[in-house]
Amino acid sequence: MNAQPKASHFIAGDFVEDTRGAAFDSTHPATGAVIARLHEATPDIMSRALDAARDAQPAWAALPPVERGRILHRAAMILRARNQELSVLETQDTGKPLQETLVADAASGADAFEYFAGFAPTVTGQTIPLGRDMAYTLREALGVCAGIGAWNYPIQIACWKAAPALAFGNAMVFKPSELTPLSALALAEILQEAGLPAGLFNVVQGRGAVGAALASDARVAKVSLTGSVPTGRKVYAAAAQGIRAVTMELGGKSPLIIFDDADVENAVSAAILGNFYSAGQICSNGTRVFVHQRIKAEFLDRLVVRTRQIRLGDPLDPQTQMGPLVSEAQMDKVLGHIARGVKDGARLVCGGARHGTSGCFVQPTVFADVRDDMALAQQEIFGPVMSVLDFNGETDVVARANATEYGLAAGVFTRDLARAHRVAGAMQAGTVWVNAYNLTPVEMPFGGVKASGVGRENGHAALEHYTRIKSVYLGLGDVDAPY
Ligand code: NAD
Repeated sequence: MNAQPKASHFIAGDFVEDTRGAAFDSTHPATGAVIARLHEATPDIMSRALDAARDAQPAWAALPPVERGRILHRAAMILRARNQELSVLETQDTGKPLQETLVADAASGADAFEYFAGFAPTVTGQTIPLGRDMAYTLREALGVCAGIGAWNYPIQIACWKAAPALAFGNAMVFKPSELTPLSALALAEILQEAGLPAGLFNVVQGRGAVGAALASDARVAKVSLTGSVPTGRKVYAAAAQGIRAVTMELGGKSPLIIFDDADVENAVSAAILGNFYSAGQICSNGTRVFVHQRIKAEFLDRLVVRTRQIRLGDPLDPQTQMGPLVSEAQMDKVLGHIARGVKDGARLVCGGARHGTSGCFVQPTVFADVRDDMALAQQEIFGPVMSVLDFNGETDVVARANATEYGLAAGVFTRDLARAHRVAGAMQAGTVWVNAYNLTPVEMPFGGVKASGVGRENGHAALEHYTRIKSVYLGLGDVDAPY
């Protein structure tokens, strides 16, 4: 299996290599096979990428928005036409099953380009009557935006950042996760083929230090990070030094509350999807599943039966439903959380071990009788580990669901319409799903509150985060001066 790109970086329309940068490998997590060897960006590479973006951006911002949109629309079409090969590449790099990558990765990225291509020409300012005088506002691009990605949805993250940034007239320098460096380079090629002028979407590779250099560079106007809370704190602090704008899409420990009037089969479906899709490596997963005591036994019975049916195996086999975790380090971390859960006295009802002896596979795991004070219920695990907690009353469960530093998402299952809205309103979360879970259409804003982040991606809300407002005051009479 070889997925070696033409070079590590993509700058000003060309693949670029600088072997003075430290080498690192991309591996296929199902086998450990090295699929590509790349080099981290050197200061010289970083500077070339940032200069290219800075130089290309003004002419791009000056184009009629419909022309920018036309190029981005073409990119969406190419992403869809190449979905199969992009999905294979993403599966090789992340280990996520092809069954998922075919529908959730490049396809979601294409949606973002299509949406923001259409959005760009609709952006307007305001006119503000002021009596004799008046003012108007202009929506301006920010300039050079830095994008820093996580490894769980590499091309989706790159597209969710690049599409609005480019649509509204910015340039981007994107650093993918060092664990999944490949699909961002494929995206750069596709954007070029779609007609994006050179320098507007650049890719630089590397570990955290490369991201840190981007977040503190004077040429960067805005930093958009998808990553963990600890990284978010560092990037936010670095951006603050230059008073740079930020979007922070960070981690979570989201609650999924299942009331006793819920459709149990649907609730089980949501809990399974919200914990085991992408082997549990999803920021918004509902990893604290609060189940009303009256339906607990029925819920757990169905959950265990259906969880045991999940097919683990070669992620490139279209029949496989769950692949490995992204890396050995992540597998070890998740197995450590499971061991801690057992030690803390949670009841292991399903899974709980590594699957097989090679590759980074962990069995889908369910703990019942989890208490709020256990590490299982407090720490983001980012693996296929579900914690089921009991509850009795609405007031009590709402308070417990909110008692976390995170606030990315929440879910509620009930047939009671008034309760659904009441609980949705009470949740401290950026997104609440009612009788559904983890659906993130591009039309809907997505992001967190509390430690889970600032800013929103997708939807109309993205405009606020990739443009700024200029007010123009028009004096239409004489200037009154008292001196
Ligand atoms: P991570 O924080 O380890 O790394 C994220 C990115 O930041 C990587 O590209 C990394 O190289 C870079 N980075 C690391 N240190 C840096 C620094 N000091 N300065 C600048 N960049 C730095 O996260 P991860 O392990 O790749 O991804 C998993 C995390 O991402 C989870 O916490 C998950 O919840 C979160 N996530 C959030 C969302 C969301 O939309 N809210 C989506 C996906 C993942």
